[in-house]
Amino acid sequence: MTTASDSAAANADTDLVSRVLAAIRRVVPESGAAVALHEPEFAGREWDYVRDCLDSGWVSSAGTYVERFERALAERCGVSEAIATVNGTAALKVALQVAGVAPGDEVLVPALTFVATANAVTYLGAVPHFVDSETSTLGVSPAALEDWLRVACERVSGALRNRATGRRVRAVVPVHVFGHPVDMDALNEVAVRHRVVVVEDATEALGTLYRDRPAGALGRLAALSFNGNKIVTTGGGGAILTDDSSLARRARHLTTTARVTHRFSFDHDEVGYNDRLPGLNAALGCAQLERLDDFIARKRALARRYAEALASVRGVRFFVEPQGARANYWLNALLLEEDEPAVLESLLERGHCIGIGMRPVWRLMHRLPMYQSCPRMPLPTAQWLERRLVNLPSSAALADV
Ligand SMILES: *Cc1c(COP(=O)(O)O)cnc(C)c1O
Repeated sequence: MTTASDSAAANADTDLVSRVLAAIRRVVPESGAAVALHEPEFAGREWDYVRDCLDSGWVSSAGTYVERFERALAERCGVSEAIATVNGTAALKVALQVAGVAPGDEVLVPALTFVATANAVTYLGAVPHFVDSETSTLGVSPAALEDWLRVACERVSGALRNRATGRRVRAVVPVHVFGHPVDMDALNEVAVRHRVVVVEDATEALGTLYRDRPAGALGRLAALSFNGNKIVTTGGGGAILTDDSSLARRARHLTTTARVTHRFSFDHDEVGYNDRLPGLNAALGCAQLERLDDFIARKRALARRYAEALASVRGVRFFVEPQGARANYWLNALLLEEDEPAVLESLLERGHCIGIGMRPVWRLMHRLPMYQSCPRMPLPTAQWLERRLVNLPSSAALADV
């Protein structure tokens, strides 16, 4: 039976969805075409560099563009070494491997992330151990992690072990969700105290600053991604960043089939990967990287316009960068104030119907069939965010309309 108050609530919900969509429409006006969540933009020297790369004949990893791209990345991110890879997932996998993650280890990974973070751990024969997030950053909560490690783990001859599984907990992977940085000073303190290695998943955060330091330079190693939907794209690609030259050498070696350098012999000293970025993609990356500051400026302007448009809509809140951060605002996000699945559903549904590309956040990792039985801490905040968060169209070009 439907009561008068039920239908009043339903009307209020419909009303909320209409008001949110109207506010978004003020930022992203009707144009006849559907608005994607995120689109790449090639308005710089992409054609010149790609043509030059083709003309040179060095389209695979051997040409000059790979080196040039790596140098530009290292400089931009304030690290001494960058190793370009075929994608961000490969960068994460190899970064974790050179960080010492071995089969049978556990790696602390947020439940709220894209599946690649957990997959990279699994490829190494290690097990993801899911941790909770905080609402101020959308990333790993250092305080909740500290409390959890105290109860769930113990130190056995220098190594951190999960009391329940007996496995060694080797590393933690903070993910800078949608370009907003994790509270890395606090996280690094927890990591030092418990002796776990920090490998940043900075795949969404190229150009983001945390207390004036670039994302990607805040842990022992980091991974970047240049997938088609990221802020800078090479079609597909990624990079490992580090200040440690011996880790960099090992990463370079592993991604080039662990080939022992020789003028002509094929000699390999361990099982490596064919994970290097081709020069053709690096050429695209060099041109894209020249545009990064422009992309960030426009994406930040777009975020400001969403924030203004949504400020007067009761029942939702635009997600603003954490204090002390200067985010790249890779993907914009709003949060529903109430836990109302029907409103979330209706907002996504009606948004799609009128051609506004919105998305819910990723299904939490511990709900995916292959990760259901992995160890995890209580995840109240990740679950809270899962029921409220919606991503909004975020291409830099939307700032120009
Ligand atoms: C994009 C992304 C990756 C993986 O990058 P690919 O280049 O697509 O392999 C990993 N983690 C997160 C959080 C990402 O958003």
